[in-house]
Amino acid sequence: MKICYYGVRGSIPTPGPETIRYGGNTPCVAVWCDGELVILDAGTGLRVLGEELMATRFGKGGGRATLLVTHTHWDHIQGFPFFRPAYVNGNSFQIAGMHQINKGLETAMHHQQQYQNFPVLLSQMPARITFNALSEDAGLSIGGLSISTTVLNHPGGACAYRVDHGDHAVVYATDTEHYPEIDLRLLALCLGADVLIYDATYTPEEYREHVGWGHSTWQKGIELATAAGVKALHLFHHHPSHSDEFMEAVLAEARKSFPETHLAREGWTVDLG
Ligand SMILES: [Zn+2]
Ligand SMILES: [Zn+2]
Repeated sequence: MKICYYGVRGSIPTPGPETIRYGGNTPCVAVWCDGELVILDAGTGLRVLGEELMATRFGKGGGRATLLVTHTHWDHIQGFPFFRPAYVNGNSFQIAGMHQINKGLETAMHHQQQYQNFPVLLSQMPARITFNALSEDAGLSIGGLSISTTVLNHPGGACAYRVDHGDHAVVYATDTEHYPEIDLRLLALCLGADVLIYDATYTPEEYREHVGWGHSTWQKGIELATAAGVKALHLFHHHPSHSDEFMEAVLAEARKSFPETHLAREGWTVDLG
């Protein structure tokens, strides 16, 4: 299993000298297992993934992938209109989201590409695009991969995904606000995972000013990772105003209590073997 980061920033793209090391594109993470591609979220990082895929079978119309969307806030879907493999006839994409949150997923994806917003309708994209509303209990299997999900605490709803393949597992839990007590459903989803990708938008100090905004902190990520016996914690959905330097100071602090903490970074690939 290989995890590749294409967008790690929350809320809005933030290019510039202050964010050059960790990147300014909004959420998009690719998970490769045995030739199967699962894409977590379609933020602006998806454009970069798309460019890379054009050099593979996706450039010739022989590509197939599953896009798992956590929710339809702009920072999680805005890259899709710029995803070049969707303009290649013969490619096929399944776009999935959890039913109770994302029953509006198909509508929202189509609305994003109405003429007021973008010149090409989603229905005019030449690739085969299908939608799949997942239920929390059923999940999804693709080849040797199994995907499970749970609801998160976020305005309008969001969901986390766990991708399992053989002995390896990664959990993608972004856009969630922790509860006073550990979230037992999320804990169950994370148990024994190799990697937990977690919403670390705020520092604990900043969080006090943003209760109810639907985001969490590195400290709560460590609590969850520790309770679930996760091997590595990847801090994700970086705040638009956090510079590289600021985040590295946060990382040093976090590593005192959980040494296997990392900052998710655009262009970073983690190979779990
Ligand atoms: Zn977000
Ligand atoms: Zn959101």
